[in-house]
Amino acid sequence: MEETTKIIKIPAIITVGDFADKLSIPVSQVIGELMKNGVMATINENIDYETAEIIAEFLGHKVESEVEELKEKPEEKCEVSKSAISRPPVIAVLGHVDHGKTSLLDKIREANVVAKESGGITQHIGAYQVEYKKKIITFLDTPGHEAFEAMRQHGAEVTDIAIIIVAADDGIKPQTTEAIKHAKNAGTPMIVVVNKIDKPDADPARVRKQFTEIGMTPQEWGGDIEFVDVSSKTGDGVDKLLDTLIVMSEMLNLCADPKAPAQGLVIESKIEVGKGPVATILIKNGTLNSADWISVGETYGRVKSMEDENSKRLKSAGPSRAVRISGLKSVPGVAEIMQSFKDEKDARDDAEKSKKYAHVKKFSNVRKIGLDELTAQVAALDKNELSIVIKADVVGSLDAIKESLGKLNNEFVGVKFVGEGVGDVSEKDIQMAASSDKIIICFKVGKSPGVEGTAKSNKVKILKYDVIYELISDIKTLLSEMMPIEKNEIQIGILKVLGVFKVSPHLTVAGGKVEDGRAEKGANIRIKRNGEPIGEYVVTNVQREKEEMPSVPAGSECGFSIEQKVDIAVDDVVEFYRVEEHKKTM
Ligand code: GDP
Repeated sequence: MEETTKIIKIPAIITVGDFADKLSIPVSQVIGELMKNGVMATINENIDYETAEIIAEFLGHKVESEVEELKEKPEEKCEVSKSAISRPPVIAVLGHVDHGKTSLLDKIREANVVAKESGGITQHIGAYQVEYKKKIITFLDTPGHEAFEAMRQHGAEVTDIAIIIVAADDGIKPQTTEAIKHAKNAGTPMIVVVNKIDKPDADPARVRKQFTEIGMTPQEWGGDIEFVDVSSKTGDGVDKLLDTLIVMSEMLNLCADPKAPAQGLVIESKIEVGKGPVATILIKNGTLNSADWISVGETYGRVKSMEDENSKRLKSAGPSRAVRISGLKSVPGVAEIMQSFKDEKDARDDAEKSKKYAHVKKFSNVRKIGLDELTAQVAALDKNELSIVIKADVVGSLDAIKESLGKLNNEFVGVKFVGEGVGDVSEKDIQMAASSDKIIICFKVGKSPGVEGTAKSNKVKILKYDVIYELISDIKTLLSEMMPIEKNEIQIGILKVLGVFKVSPHLTVAGGKVEDGRAEKGANIRIKRNGEPIGEYVVTNVQREKEEMPSVPAGSECGFSIEQKVDIAVDDVVEFYRVEEHKKTM
């Protein structure tokens, strides 16, 4: 078929018939393509934009979403709206159990509550605001890791900054790593809070070292992650943390338009005796007023009561404010989007649309399979080609899959088909896979009887798919793991050598003035003479006035040692640097 370059606009939900009309192709062709992708739909059934886009691509058409019809995540309208103003940052605290999330939030709240003129009783609504140096900050005090993940899966980024809290006497633990992963996946800026520094066995430097080892080098060590030491028990460092959060949020230039129709996200919801469904909504944009008609995900209603965390009744609530509302027809899910409308009909229609959308999403569901085990296995392969066996139901889909997978190849990694065919996975397929990377990809086929055991004993993984793009997306994930590691050099500081104190076979000690950045223990150094590099080493110790230091800043003199014999002389320039490693992206 001839490629068409015209871009066709498709709404969030469209019937199969209308979709075929828009593409000017017979509806049978669309239905056929949908079936190939594991979606059974008749002419009057709806498909969502995501499905339409994939099908259009297979049919050689380019489509784009009619954005206004999509229930997009609430957007900040800094540039596009004249009435946009800056809004308070929304902060979440994530970290390992017992590292002090609750204590930190309590301490912050205790010291900085927004004037309680209402005299209301503080209630838990999942978020609260504090006022510090005339600035408002919103803290989420519910989203555990699951809630954070739920938000992310809805594409909703409720959090502007994630605090990764870690106990100074315990260091990085599994949930710390998980918290970092969540924040990274969501693209949320992070700040590390090293808590419990009042404890006798607290070792904040060790914690920093652990973070450096996982590529999160503290700013004071030349990296780009802010670290703040606090004690949630004594309150030490809490003000510094709030100062840092304010600076970070100013840099993020967060804004919202209070005049826009209200948009927000559900952070908590439940049925309350006497009130019916209640939900805590974090307003992302616009202003929500009592008696507004709203849709929240698949439900809707009219705001009957609206309260803040101090049980104070509110008439209206603007951006970054969390409010508990009642008046919805049913309980919405966490991370659902709230939107205000001018009348009941519009709110109800929107909820209906969400219902349809949810239904379509379910049946054309993009499965996020747990590839973790396999990705680890692939990463360990340390090679640049993934050898797989591929089985499909018909020749047409086998060819389509091979073609799509072929497109994933790049100069670093690629897929090789060591076996392929139509029909169920057989003993022969397992044998072929066993002698390669032990992966069989099945598209709409099963296994011949008895092969399960052979697969297990040969450690061959059989991945089954009904939808082509899920298959492609998973293989892309595996290939991403095989991408080469890129090393980046991060400059830390420059020192000029003023004296050489000792050069022996196993130790060299020299001293000089730090002219830029800092001299840092554990850093790599490059010695330059007359502008030319003459050697690269690791600094094992940095001292100022005989005292060992983690680092010494610009303007100071210091001594440093290297545990080997080094050619170094007065007037040499020493560059301190770190090497950060990360995988190249596909
Ligand atoms: P969460 O599970 O992360 O919410 O941790 P909690 O806030 O419940 O704290 C766990 C335990 O550590 C509690 O017994 C707290 O009293 C204690 N704790 C929290 N922060 C500090 C701190 O800064 N210093 C000391 N000494 N104890 C703390």
